[in-house]
Amino acid sequence: MARRILVTGGAGFLGSHLCERLIEDGAEVICLDNFFTGRRENVDRLLGHRRFELMRHDVTEAMTLEVDEIYHLACPASPIHYQRNPVRTIRTGVVGTLNMLDVARESRARVLIASTSEVYGDPEVHPQREDYWGHVNPIGSRACYDESKRCAEAVAVSYARQYAVEVRIARIFNTYGPRLALDDGRVVSNFILQALRGEPPTVYGTGDQTRSFCYVSDLVEGLVRLMASGANAVPVNLGNPSECTMRELAEKVTALVGIEPRVRYEELPADDPRQRRPDIARARELLGWEPLVGLDEGLRATIDYFRGRLGAA
Ligand code: NAD
Ligand code: UDP
Repeated sequence: MARRILVTGGAGFLGSHLCERLIEDGAEVICLDNFFTGRRENVDRLLGHRRFELMRHDVTEAMTLEVDEIYHLACPASPIHYQRNPVRTIRTGVVGTLNMLDVARESRARVLIASTSEVYGDPEVHPQREDYWGHVNPIGSRACYDESKRCAEAVAVSYARQYAVEVRIARIFNTYGPRLALDDGRVVSNFILQALRGEPPTVYGTGDQTRSFCYVSDLVEGLVRLMASGANAVPVNLGNPSECTMRELAEKVTALVGIEPRVRYEELPADDPRQRRPDIARARELLGWEPLVGLDEGLRATIDYFRGRLGAA
């Protein structure tokens, strides 16, 4: 019989790619979303599939469901969206995770929590390994997201210890690719949209801050392997260790789109992490996983997607 898998946040950027992958693997997929940042169009091509079901629900509301696995991704991920209603972000991150762990407990399902590199905050250790506890401002503008993800990890390991729920914790680093929303506000989609419109990318601060960008197909492969692994209640970094500054990213995007290499400098948001790069030794060892898609290749595919979206609009 096909595995029954619940994907929360399944109509979002990562969730929609994951749903597709799980359907390809032969699973029965229940995609749950409240469409806060996700779109029905992201799962359009799955809607007629007999093993796919789309369910409108908010994870902050308790529910019951019989499933074998849960990928819990529901949560706004872009700073502009998660800061728009910080209390709601915390409720989603904490209450939503408690609710999904209750579903897992009741149906004896294995659950994977989408955590984040934000648990490391503005890191003083570089690159970041899973045993680093992080440097997070608990009252800053990013706290609603960072602290609720940290709490979600604490909730997950507590369910593992207290109720023997099988939990997997993915610490996801910046991921990009097709289906990022046009109004997402994260750096890759902003730069590509601006470049395609012939505008200079908006670089915040000096642009010397770094991130490490992982292409979505690599990330999805990592999530699937992590779920199948024996890494119970052990956080695993998933990301691409190749690091670049935001200025370098802007230069790359303008070159690939073929516009003048100009940028516009804007104010740096508060508490913006200065550097970020995953140490993926644990993922290599436990999952046999590492990213395969380089930044140029991934950006080209993402640019093509945005071209199509702009053309359609
Ligand atoms: P996204 O905003 O595209 O997707 C999030 C999805 O969750 C959306 O479809 C949204 O409508 C849904 N959602 C939000 N609140 C909900 C609620 N209360 N109930 C039901 N659905 C709700 O973002 P994404 O990039 O796909 O991120 C998915 C997950 O991965 C998030 O948990 C995010 O924190 C995590 N993550 C992503 C990245 C990244 O770079 N993309 C990095 C680290 C962690
Ligand atoms: N950033 C930028 N221009 C933009 C959007 C973001 O320079 O138009 C910077 C932002 O200040 C941060 C980095 O890009 O240093 C990554 O930002 P994003 O919001 O994508 O993710 P996060 O900060 O959560 O890693």
